[in-house]
Amino acid sequence: MSTHTAQRHPQPLRPLPAGRVKFTDAFWSRYRDLVREVVIPYQYEALHDRVPDAEPSHAIANFEIAAGRKQGEFHGFVFQDTDVAKWLEAVGYSLMTHPDPELERLADDVIDLIAEAQGEDGYLNTYFTIQEPDKRWTNLADCHELYTAGHLIEAACAYYEATGKRKVLDVACRLADCIDRVFGPNEGQLRGYDGHEEIELALVKLYRVTGEERYLRLAAFFVDERGREPNFLREEWEKRGRINFFLKRPAPINLEYHQAHRPVREQTDAVGHAVRAMYLYAAMADLAAENGDESLLEACRRLWRSTTRKRMYVTGGVGSTHHLEAFTTDYDLPNDTAYAESCASIGLIMFAKRMLQIEAKGEYGDVMERALYNTVLAGMSQDGKRYFYVNPLEVWPEACRSNPGKHHVKPVRQRWFGCACCPPNIARLIASLGGYVYDVDADSGIVYTHLYIGGEARLNVGKEGGGHDGGTVVVRQETNYPWDGAVMLTVTPEAGGLSAFTLALRLPGWSRTSEIAVNGERIAPEVRDGYAYIRRDWQPGDTVELKLDMTIRLLAARPEVRADAGRVAIQRGPLVYCLESADNPGGPLSALAIDTQTPLTATYDAQLLGGCVVIEGRAFREGARDWADALYLPLEEEDGARCEEPAAFRAIPYYLWGNRGEGEMAVWVRYR
Ligand code: ZN
Repeated sequence: MSTHTAQRHPQPLRPLPAGRVKFTDAFWSRYRDLVREVVIPYQYEALHDRVPDAEPSHAIANFEIAAGRKQGEFHGFVFQDTDVAKWLEAVGYSLMTHPDPELERLADDVIDLIAEAQGEDGYLNTYFTIQEPDKRWTNLADCHELYTAGHLIEAACAYYEATGKRKVLDVACRLADCIDRVFGPNEGQLRGYDGHEEIELALVKLYRVTGEERYLRLAAFFVDERGREPNFLREEWEKRGRINFFLKRPAPINLEYHQAHRPVREQTDAVGHAVRAMYLYAAMADLAAENGDESLLEACRRLWRSTTRKRMYVTGGVGSTHHLEAFTTDYDLPNDTAYAESCASIGLIMFAKRMLQIEAKGEYGDVMERALYNTVLAGMSQDGKRYFYVNPLEVWPEACRSNPGKHHVKPVRQRWFGCACCPPNIARLIASLGGYVYDVDADSGIVYTHLYIGGEARLNVGKEGGGHDGGTVVVRQETNYPWDGAVMLTVTPEAGGLSAFTLALRLPGWSRTSEIAVNGERIAPEVRDGYAYIRRDWQPGDTVELKLDMTIRLLAARPEVRADAGRVAIQRGPLVYCLESADNPGGPLSALAIDTQTPLTATYDAQLLGGCVVIEGRAFREGARDWADALYLPLEEEDGARCEEPAAFRAIPYYLWGNRGEGEMAVWVRYR
């Protein structure tokens, strides 16, 4: 028996609707409100090209042209439609918890436009409809045709679940039916798949919403075809004269970039474009769950280990190089040239949550939390109007401007991007975060709590239509997380419903000692694989107090991570910290070495960046000597003294970096 089987759910769990959880805590309500009040309206304006000083998106205009409402050319990336889809998806999630007739009216108008742009046969893609109607499905490697369809399908599922309105769901089904006719193993069908994964996980969602099994089979077909010989992407590339769509000339094809170098079940390392990889793995986990597919699940576990134990930044970022926005090799995690795209960490969160739905292992929750509280939150400014696409762990602004190898690293967040994948992706994740907090295993009668976010959830612990009585339970969380490790949960089963069940709480790996009390009394529940299991006959108003250990930790990277040798990263609770020159003036951050012999302090600063816990301590400043114009000098002065002086340092949560103008930033800092 492997250790995995012990934590397997008897039946894989289906995700809970995002609207099941209503946030009330200060930390996340702020972000959720920001998405609703600022980001969604702002992105609506951006999609309509009405944001001054931002690159025009042309995304809505493309739909208007494809729908025949106006004349013109297609502009933007070949996958520009996805910006509209991701906006609509975020609107769907937002409406689940915050009905807003005005926003719904705007969305309905956009849906009318999308429906008008759809072809008779269900085809929907404004680039090909406007620009190259006879070139459909001829360049799957480059043209994101199925990827674009996938985002539309995801949006449709979210909007339908929120509003019950079928129009956009019908559009999505017609599109999926069109794809299902074109692709498949039969004579006359294309045995292909997209160069950018996304359709696979979208089709699983569509199957879950509609119950139509063809969509599930089509998703499995796309996953299984990937990387098989004869290799579809290679043959397609030969057929079009090896022309690369973006370069408009012959160029090599890199199958690893598309995770198409070998069949997915034989893949062992996370390779290629990081966002593509994460979306593929998320879909593989979905299919492993839905089809009880053991070899696919084994592949998911292998790829999970490769990603998170060998190729992930301490901030939960993935993708070590901007060349092809890709993974490189084990332990190659450079800080100042990192790619760590916001979207890749969103994909990692999606992968982690799907693995949790198969087996309750704390490490999935830990990684989900790490990516969420660090890279994803860092991707958006505190006013919700500026974004990072790349999330480096070290920045020296002058070098980013003058060194072409660092041009992709931006020292401050940007307003919008021509390739605007990240901003709407962050918005849809935050808007759907309610779906990541809990899972319910009705077969075993277990409510899993993965994330600690103040709010209220209505969960059905009984097996709906099954053996047990159905029963709704309201779980309320109150917490000042992530600043404080205390979480108070109040459990209230519905009168007459099921009251005997297990509440499972994730005990994060960073918390060395976690205390749990029920109704004020300390208990020692069974702990398995990162979850504490509290089984009882719950009475309305029973409380569970969880106290996590928020001691500041200095993390070291294993020696193979060359970039972090001799350095430490600071973590407190789920938050990774960084130093900025705004708090540490007087020289480059690289001159500072943290004094690990004196204790560090954590203090809540209500004035700083909307309020956060800052970490302060003693340090040594190296090179305190008269350098004159020397570039190099002996380490010691002539009397043998080390050239350093005592200093102090201050660190802020990584996700808040870059909100005070341009300056240096570093996560990994030298120590003494
Ligand atoms: Zn992105």
